[in-house]
Amino acid sequence: MIEYICTISGGKIMSKAVITNKNICPVYKKCGGCQLQNMSYPEQLKYKQNKAERYLKRFGKILPIIGMDNPYHYRNKVQAAFYTSRNGKIISGVYQSGSHNVVGIDSCQIEDELADKIIVGVRKLMPSFKMTTYNEDTRRGFLRHILVKRGFATNQVMLVLVTGKPMFPSKNNFVKAIREKFPEITTIVQNINPYQTNLVLGDRENVLYGKGYIEDILCGCRFRISPKSFYQINPVQTEVLYSTAIKYADLKGDETVLDTYCGIGTIGIIAAKNGAGKVIGVELNGDAVRDAIVNAKANGLKNIRFYKGDAGDFMRAAAQEDEKPDVVFMDPPRAGSSEVFLDSLIKMSPKTVVYVSCNPETLARDLRYLEQKSRYRARKIQPVDMFPHTNHVESVVLMSRVGSRQ
Ligand code: SAH
Repeated sequence: MIEYICTISGGKIMSKAVITNKNICPVYKKCGGCQLQNMSYPEQLKYKQNKAERYLKRFGKILPIIGMDNPYHYRNKVQAAFYTSRNGKIISGVYQSGSHNVVGIDSCQIEDELADKIIVGVRKLMPSFKMTTYNEDTRRGFLRHILVKRGFATNQVMLVLVTGKPMFPSKNNFVKAIREKFPEITTIVQNINPYQTNLVLGDRENVLYGKGYIEDILCGCRFRISPKSFYQINPVQTEVLYSTAIKYADLKGDETVLDTYCGIGTIGIIAAKNGAGKVIGVELNGDAVRDAIVNAKANGLKNIRFYKGDAGDFMRAAAQEDEKPDVVFMDPPRAGSSEVFLDSLIKMSPKTVVYVSCNPETLARDLRYLEQKSRYRARKIQPVDMFPHTNHVESVVLMSRVGSRQ
């Protein structure tokens, strides 16, 4: 058992770790997902604070990282891979880091506990339904992966069965059996992935039960989440992250706001609910854009529009059309933003830029570019621990132009 008491008080990391036993995960090394398991949680926070400082200190003030009160079982999205051992036993678990060997696990300290139980439940049902596991080399077999997503605030649960082929023998009986075992499941989807790829999900989907999506609530707004849409995996800390981003935007009520790399529209929708005059979102993934449009409607918002496309292309076109947003939120993937994006941002010259980043390295690169090419400077940098036990560092950066009032 490891117990933690860790709170943020007055902007300081307050942590009194009571370590009764170093209960390190038995597959910690093999799995490689939780790189910081050998540290107590307060030590992890210190490590991340140092990492943020190392990359970002030269750009502005780094506030103390905001950690979790309970840094366990925070993942609302759980994936499992499958294989059959030589003696015919079905194994489910995670890929060993950097390989496609499956490390068998039934439970994980950072994953949602119900999701883990559902994965084991499916595995146990497989023999009685003569379900085989998919073999990536021979491209034979049936079940490739399982994905479970749970809305922590709504308790809706989605089970996605990723199969190598569209055929699903005894489909209805299987659905009945798994629902009997886990009445918490609100929707079941078959995703077909016949490709030689590292991606878990393929293009085609059949809804086997329920609506084909789940919903969750963040910062008082309701969101619809499809199997393929990006959704933050730690909802507790996502509220902290988004609240910080919205606070930094300092909305007064008539601003035009861009939500770039918007996913299912979360930040833009929360901004619209918190006083933005008009919001425009842009996102590359078509499923996420579809969810974003539905989400805006479900939250009763009329002053928000979404575009599907590359954020850089969108920004270039908007700059050419002489658009003048007041606030730009940007939340790019790990690779960071692009020069086309940043050049267009400089041209449009919004009063405030709020950069949400999951990678301090590319964040530093983009901040350096902005510093060299423009008068934008980082005013505050707030790290948030979105992924306890892993070495990932998420930060929210408030930027404004030199000479402008903050
Ligand atoms: N702001 C959202 C999503 C952040 S993750 C949230 O908080 O949930 C980054 C998002 O950028 C993903 O949804 C991904 O699909 C999208 N994305 C990746 N490359 C992109 C690009 N070139 N243009 C626009 N969106 C992109």
